[in-house]
Amino acid sequence: MKTRIMLALAAALLAAPAAADTWIRNVNGIQIGPDGTLQHFAGLLIDDRGRVEQLSTAPPSMPITGTDTVGVIDGGGRTLLPGLIDAHGHVIDLGFAALRLDVTGTASLAELQQRLRDYAAAHPEAKWIQGFGWNQELWPEKRFPTAADLDAIVRDRPVVLERVDGHAYVVNSAAMKAAGVTAATPAPHGGEIHDGVFVDAAKQLIDEAIPKPTNAQLDEALAKSQGILLGVGVTGVGSMSTSIPDWQAFSRAGEAGRLNVRLMAYITAAQAAEADMRPTGWLYGDRLRAVGVKLFADGALGSRGAWLKQPYADQPDSQGLQFHPDAEMLALADQAASRGFQIATHAIGDAANAQIISVYEQLSKKYGRDRRWRIEHFQIADPADIPRLAPAGIIASMQPTHQTSDRLMAEARLGPNRLAGAYAWQSVLKSGARLAFGTDFPVESPNPFPGLSAAVSRQDVNGQPPGGWIPSERLTFEQALQAYTRGAAYAGFAEDKIGALEPGKYADFIIIDRDPTKVDPQSLAKTQVLETWVAGKKVFSRASATPERGQ
Ligand SMILES: [Zn+2]
Repeated sequence: MKTRIMLALAAALLAAPAAADTWIRNVNGIQIGPDGTLQHFAGLLIDDRGRVEQLSTAPPSMPITGTDTVGVIDGGGRTLLPGLIDAHGHVIDLGFAALRLDVTGTASLAELQQRLRDYAAAHPEAKWIQGFGWNQELWPEKRFPTAADLDAIVRDRPVVLERVDGHAYVVNSAAMKAAGVTAATPAPHGGEIHDGVFVDAAKQLIDEAIPKPTNAQLDEALAKSQGILLGVGVTGVGSMSTSIPDWQAFSRAGEAGRLNVRLMAYITAAQAAEADMRPTGWLYGDRLRAVGVKLFADGALGSRGAWLKQPYADQPDSQGLQFHPDAEMLALADQAASRGFQIATHAIGDAANAQIISVYEQLSKKYGRDRRWRIEHFQIADPADIPRLAPAGIIASMQPTHQTSDRLMAEARLGPNRLAGAYAWQSVLKSGARLAFGTDFPVESPNPFPGLSAAVSRQDVNGQPPGGWIPSERLTFEQALQAYTRGAAYAGFAEDKIGALEPGKYADFIIIDRDPTKVDPQSLAKTQVLETWVAGKKVFSRASATPERGQ
């Protein structure tokens, strides 16, 4: 690596740079070096292809003497980091979550109705109006909303508003008509229907009637999602559970030069098989690549769907859900691996993690070690299984804010004596395995800074609990930043292009409002991104607060 930097430097000194080169000077540059330690730099020379040409540790006024062809940008001493990479997010879902009608925090039924009225007026083109977040407990009425309450505002098209806990819809008459539901329709087993409210299993009746998103809606969701991601400093994403329509939306954006976030796509396994899809190389100026498939070994801890080795502490007759018998899990992964895909498998419970580790151990023997088998979440591991990761080349793809969101629930589900391998980031690293960080957005906010804060503190943004939850699993800032940059790039087979600002790699970087190495975890969580650059072009600026076009 040192030789490469020296060579690049020598080349830069010999040849005058191209006219479009950009010199970003006077920055407090911070990144993780190849040896895993913090590296500081003061300037960055970017070539006309948007790649890093030279990194300077000393602060000269110009990188090269005797030339005036370099565009110079004064960083004003602000802090610059490589663009952060979220190893596990749901790109289209993030866009849709942001585009739907938000009725969270409404203080009365009348306020919900007002928001619905405003949204309907602002979105005359929406064939269905979908919203989220009502809670009648916050209203003076304390009663459930009804179809009639919504009909009073919108009659001409279906309206579906989900309760804040995700367990019920209230819909208007047009939605019931579209779903073919009448007063005579019985509620399915495990569900309830009353006055336009559809609870649990009854929600399915409405879901089946909601039209699949159009290409235009997918494009809008992707644009919205990219705006959100670039605004919080995320320049690369492991795009999980990518459907074929999602992939097509990514490709349309790539063709049109509108893909500013680099996407490493993990296609839903069934859809990849159905469409006979294969991995792709990098496309559209290294913005998009189908690299893997997504599989599931179990469910989630909150709903007691995570598959555990021992029964749930708070439900002793259950060990959760095993999605596939061992042989079937192996066959599914082998099938995708034989097509050249990387495998990313959701596993939350210790039994699910042990199963998928066994599968990957077998596949490693068959396909070799550098297939970078990924376990998504790796939330609850049996400590005895953690040392099995590294020898099989398994990457733990984890989400630090799941730990802060889930800790009380995890204690309830597992009891106090089975938490030794829970969200065990430091144990994973100590075992020699690779770690990649992300958020699982929109399940959690895509903002990486609360995640970096949780990683170093095991505390939420309010500093709870004091001292941190199982503080032995805290990471150093270097380790946390590594998992969000180099680690996440490696997990997506992208470390030759992104994850660090080094000669030949893309100038994807962010400028932030504080030095993360000099603030406490609560302040780190509140870090604001001022500018986001991809391939040497500014694609987000907080000053204008709207994403700028770049390519
Ligand atoms: Zn996910």
